[in-house]
Amino acid sequence: WCSATTAVVTGANKGVGYEIARQLALHGFKVILTSRDINNCLQPQKSLLEQGLNAAIHQLDILSLESVGQFSQWIHHNFGGIDILINNAGVNFNLGSDNSIEFAETVVETNYFGTKRMIRTMLPLMKPSISGARIVNVSSRLGRLNGRRNRLADTTLRQQLNDEDALSEELIDSAVTKFLEEVKEGNWNSGAWPQVFTDYSVSKLAVNAFTRVMARELGNRPEGSKVYVNCYCPGWVKTGMTGWAGNISAEEAADTGVWLALLPVSGQVMGKFFAERREISF
Ligand code: NDP
Repeated sequence: WCSATTAVVTGANKGVGYEIARQLALHGFKVILTSRDINNCLQPQKSLLEQGLNAAIHQLDILSLESVGQFSQWIHHNFGGIDILINNAGVNFNLGSDNSIEFAETVVETNYFGTKRMIRTMLPLMKPSISGARIVNVSSRLGRLNGRRNRLADTTLRQQLNDEDALSEELIDSAVTKFLEEVKEGNWNSGAWPQVFTDYSVSKLAVNAFTRVMARELGNRPEGSKVYVNCYCPGWVKTGMTGWAGNISAEEAADTGVWLALLPVSGQVMGKFFAERREISF
């Protein structure tokens, strides 16, 4: 990597996102910290600049088409493109043993559709390079298809999502749309969906599946214009999202994301799921 390479991190004003941005900056990247409220990025940027690191900021609400559009234009005009995109922004309204689905729409819209919107919008701006551009989606083990606990009990849907060749964006969209319809109708609790942190798990399951779809789509690109896309679970992290109840720090949680973003070309992977620097199953 040359020193002028550029990385964008969504939801970088705090938590895991800020740490990923900080660690990428320590590796010599120009990092663009984004936040839905630009004021929340001022202090994090100041802190990075004081450490002699290269950090710019911009407003970005991944729920808003307009905001994502303005951001991509700003990137285009000011940087020409980017080398790394870290899709970290996410929400979860469950804490402890709660299983609230009151905010299911916001959760799915942000975590899945927002992430997808960022990938689709930023892809044309991913710079071609020998080392390949990188997309890292911050996901969760709660979205595992084949985990022993909390998995999708709808076996037909699980098989479809497991079938790499048949997997499609349309299938994922229709699955999450069905979930949201069932939430509205009040019959989501039929046992088909993950039983813990249900809306969040569905959203991350969709992020994981979309990572595989993108990997297939981008896998055929010729050397020099490759974009490597993978996802990872940061672990249970002491951040606002868990009410600071996790068992690792944001610094530790950022490690695998940064490692994935910086993997050398020789060790590159595509469309895989990681935790603690190891591949795990979907
Ligand atoms: P935080 O709640 O600390 O940070 C979440 C970040 O996402 C904040 O910057 C938040 O902005 C931002 N965000 C939320 N909605 C939007 C939006 N619409 N547009 C742009 N930014 C948005 O959580 P964590 O740092 O813990 O989580 C980071 C990622 O890691 C998430 O994707 C999460 O799902 C995932 N993860 C976290 C785990 C944990 O144990 N903490 C476990 C597994 C996965 P704002 O400050 O404005 O709210």
